[in-house]
Amino acid sequence: MNIKIKNAYEKNLKHIDVEIPRNKLTVITGLSGSGKTTLLKDTIYIESQRQHLETMNYQGIPKPKVEQIKNLSPAILIDQEDRNDNPRSTLGTQTDIYTDLRMIFEKLHQRDCPNCHKSISASDSKEETEKVDGEFSVYMYCPHCNYRMDKLTRSHFSFNTKAGACPRCKGMGKSLNIQEKLYKKDKTILNGAIATWHSAYAQYQMKSFSALLKYLKISVPEDIPLKEFTSEQFDLLKNGIYSTVISEAQKEHLPTKVAEGKYEGVEPKIWEKIAEEKTIPKSLKGFIKEETCSECHGEKLNPLSRFVKVYNRRLPEITRESLTHVLYWVRQVKKQSNTQEKNSVKDYLLDIETKIKRISKLGLAYLSLDRQYSTLSGGEAQRIKLAAVLDSQMTELIIILDEPTIGLHPSDTEGLLAMIDEIKGRNNTVLVIEHDEEVIKQADYIVEIGPNSGVFGGEVVSTGTYNVLMNNPYSLFLQSKHPNYQQNSYQRNTKQIAVEIQKASMHNL
Ligand SMILES: [Zn+2]
Ligand SMILES: [Zn+2]
Repeated sequence: MNIKIKNAYEKNLKHIDVEIPRNKLTVITGLSGSGKTTLLKDTIYIESQRQHLETMNYQGIPKPKVEQIKNLSPAILIDQEDRNDNPRSTLGTQTDIYTDLRMIFEKLHQRDCPNCHKSISASDSKEETEKVDGEFSVYMYCPHCNYRMDKLTRSHFSFNTKAGACPRCKGMGKSLNIQEKLYKKDKTILNGAIATWHSAYAQYQMKSFSALLKYLKISVPEDIPLKEFTSEQFDLLKNGIYSTVISEAQKEHLPTKVAEGKYEGVEPKIWEKIAEEKTIPKSLKGFIKEETCSECHGEKLNPLSRFVKVYNRRLPEITRESLTHVLYWVRQVKKQSNTQEKNSVKDYLLDIETKIKRISKLGLAYLSLDRQYSTLSGGEAQRIKLAAVLDSQMTELIIILDEPTIGLHPSDTEGLLAMIDEIKGRNNTVLVIEHDEEVIKQADYIVEIGPNSGVFGGEVVSTGTYNVLMNNPYSLFLQSKHPNYQQNSYQRNTKQIAVEIQKASMHNL
């Protein structure tokens, strides 16, 4: 059965009819700008979405400019554009390999008993679950001294939960720090000691600050440069009513009005502003820097979760290494664990192994699980998504890929083709926009759109297998890739068009 496209005229497409075999690999090729993307993404993909939604009685996607497409299936578009920009999303969370690791750590982690300080393992400690205020808490008992402690569970190993995240950076691994240069030590407050306080605002803040000092019966450092402030005065200037001076000394109520000394301090004000605007305001840019969190050193987890081990490795160590090393560790766990341990984690180990092998075949074994997903290149992200399609076990789909070989080392093309083969083998139809000759050679069917780009493209130039096209005098693009094969036909055609363009613009003038 073929997918039958009748009279497609979206953008530059010239009312074309095309048939594409189902459950095969079809490559759409041609010059850039010839209309390949218009045919695949703007016509086939959008029409599939529209038909699919219509079966569920949803309307709203406008029909692309095409008379009819028959025999479509739900389509998945795996291109390089749509990206996950969430800064908390990593390769590990995106592929769910991190979830497997969290489960393995819950089952097998080793730690020191807080009471007898002997090393204990979660796998041979007695467990107990208690329901307190509607929430379940899990405890475990030290096998040596019977001491009861909170058990570390999967949520303690997630940097996206309160239980697991580093309290300082909230699991981001980075934190914003105010730079010392915000304070001009040689100046007085009214003469620009705080770089972001200007004239009237500086006066207003100075009044409020003075009121607080008077309230606390501390002398007001007027007309003296910052460097002459006492440490108490400087702490109050920086942190106002939130400073330690106050939390330690002043137990009763604090001033509630600015005029009475409700002075909030330079730094709390800055954090408030950043939280409100959800970004660093322009005026503060030079004074705030994002730095590796000083508490977890970028490891994102709280101290306990960060330091427990499974077979000698801490979780942040595992996620920092290349996938190749993670695989090595997985094999160590398999080899060294006893039967009971093995049974409790074998599914997770298998899942990690399968996924990493798959990703490695696509030439991405050098990546680490803690790699922020949004920093992957378009090609890397596309191949990760392709691997995920195989994990999903879905069938009867149309998978659309946009130049999956971009950034791929030529020696890894074979792995990519093997994966496409596997997807195809599950009764999926794979449609690929591609210029890479290895991929084109392997295609079951090729559709060449051209002959040129823009208004001079949008036609079906030739269709068939690689060998058929190589002998088809109309297959201009494909043959142009072979310098020794009818090189002139393509160039001749381009020249001809160039002349036509010239004529056209002359007439318009
Ligand atoms: Zn103990
Ligand atoms: Zn931290």
